Amino acid sequence: MIRLTDIDKYYDSKFQRTFVLKGINITVNDGEFLSVMGPSGSGKSTLLNIIGLLDTPSAGNYHLYDEPVLDLKEKKKVEYHRNFMGFIFQAYHLIEEMTVYENIETPLIYKGVKNKDRKAMVADLLDRFNMVAKKDLFPAQLSGGQQQLVGIARAIVGKPKLLLADEPTGNLHSSQGEMIMDVLKTLNEEGMTIIQVTHNEKFANYGKRIVRLEDGLIRTDEIVK
Ligand code: ADP
Repeated sequence: MIRLTDIDKYYDSKFQRTFVLKGINITVNDGEFLSVMGPSGSGKSTLLNIIGLLDTPSAGNYHLYDEPVLDLKEKKKVEYHRNFMGFIFQAYHLIEEMTVYENIETPLIYKGVKNKDRKAMVADLLDRFNMVAKKDLFPAQLSGGQQQLVGIARAIVGKPKLLLADEPTGNLHSSQGEMIMDVLKTLNEEGMTIIQVTHNEKFANYGKRIVRLEDGLIRTDEIVK
């Protein structure tokens, strides 16, 4: 589904060119659960953002289901975001003025899902995440872990084919982290393709494949299960 070919990302300053990604070649097939690891500054987030069509490379090609996607118009990219991708960021990006319920429902409204179906889909996730009792609270009234769960619920409520997660367990203590990783594992078993960036070896091993970046290069790319 995802094919990156000879991807470079660099920034030019007056006297030098700094490479963040250099000659990245990677294919990710439907149903994979890929963990991207590497030291801070090695290009992990940049790679994830390029895959998510949130950032553009300086050189190279990117095909999604054989469609070249780098030169798509903004409108087409937004369609991909709405209909195909879900994002989990370390900062939860919840809307403070909306309740838990409304935060989770929002992507479905953008997607044009009917009111009745929306209710059922949000209720299902609230149930799954044990958050029914919190549905009318605002983000500020939740713990960090609960906010992260709402962020995850919002990312997956529209059942994206591809879930992109940047440090989904960052800032959480380990039992909350494990809970979130278990959710991701179940989603992957149900068919969702997942690419996560993580620093945590244990959480990386929830994936089926681990790619390690170093200085913008892929150092290793191995199937772990
Ligand atoms: P990681 O996620 O592995 O920590 P990132 O992809 O966030 O790495 O960043 C890789 C490198 O790109 C960092 O060294 C960062 O400073 C650099 N970088 C990001 N944005 C810019 C920019 N606008 N100008 C110059 N360097 C940048």
